[in-house]
Amino acid sequence: MRRLAVCSLVFCFGLNLPVWLGCRRSPEGSQASQGEAGTARADAPQDSAQTGKPPGFRTGTAAPVSPGVPQVAGPPPGKLWEAFSGQKALEAVAAQVRLGARPSGSANLEKCRMQIQTSLEDNGWDVEQQVFTEETPRGPVRFVNLLARFRQGKTARKDTQRALVCSHYDTKRFSTIEFLGACDGASSSGALVELSRVLALRPALAEKVELVFFDGEEAFVQFSETDGLYGSRFYARRLRETGRSKQFRFGILWDMIGDRDLTLTLPPDSPQPLTRNLLESAEALRFHSHFSYFDRPILDDHVPLNMAGIPTVDLIDFDYLSWHTADDTLDKLSAKSLEQVGALTVHYLERALAKGE
Ligand SMILES: [Zn+2]
Repeated sequence: MRRLAVCSLVFCFGLNLPVWLGCRRSPEGSQASQGEAGTARADAPQDSAQTGKPPGFRTGTAAPVSPGVPQVAGPPPGKLWEAFSGQKALEAVAAQVRLGARPSGSANLEKCRMQIQTSLEDNGWDVEQQVFTEETPRGPVRFVNLLARFRQGKTARKDTQRALVCSHYDTKRFSTIEFLGACDGASSSGALVELSRVLALRPALAEKVELVFFDGEEAFVQFSETDGLYGSRFYARRLRETGRSKQFRFGILWDMIGDRDLTLTLPPDSPQPLTRNLLESAEALRFHSHFSYFDRPILDDHVPLNMAGIPTVDLIDFDYLSWHTADDTLDKLSAKSLEQVGALTVHYLERALAKGE
């Protein structure tokens, strides 16, 4: 996606009025953000994986899910979000980062894909590999999206899902640096693996969710209508062709959600009322001060989904100092940030999907 200008906005929920805190401009370009992307926000905690959690957050204590065996124990109804473990998510992130750079079409991404797929299957999800080849500025590339659906009985059905939760798992290709994409690629994908464990605690909820790991989010040269978003464009097109797009009520995209200094910069095309309802969940979890609005469109995987008629919000921290630099490494992340976004999403999913259709 492109980095443009960022403005900070905090919602005053009592008055329902936005309060503008400031605005700054970041230059566009793959290396340009290094060292200039602004100062840390005073309202964002400098936490670490070992520090405490904000009020209302607790680490899950649920037992691990046995392979293929849906787990029915877990937190009481309405409290599933408490099971989301930032530490477990961070471990899944670290496992991806350890593989090295993971651009589309690379052997490292193939290893990453198998790692993710194995974890999903262990947590009770069926995984479909959506394979396609597309022309890129670097020639034809084979891409693979991973689509996970919860197994009820021997296999997963394809018609019970009502919500999408998505991430891209490829990393941007650089010739001059080893780009590890700890935040940009791994953070959201590792958290999505943890989400599969948590949702498996509540099979009736899990069967209503499709988890999607997009390949080819990153542009090979520069974002355009034909470069970048390869995976989400293909996935959205198949949804339309098969008619499955009609069964989904909404989507949530995660991208760069692990920054220690977490500010979720919502794009202006964030659909209502989905965004408003998500922010209510954020308020309930005392997390809403981490939200702001980006002042210009962000080209990301939510765009093809919105165009396919599925209202999809992009939970992205575009206010990330190490974006597209060699410094996008594990030490910039925190378990707490992953846990906050994961818990928020589970909180919302549980409420939005609780009743029937
Ligand atoms: Zn990127």
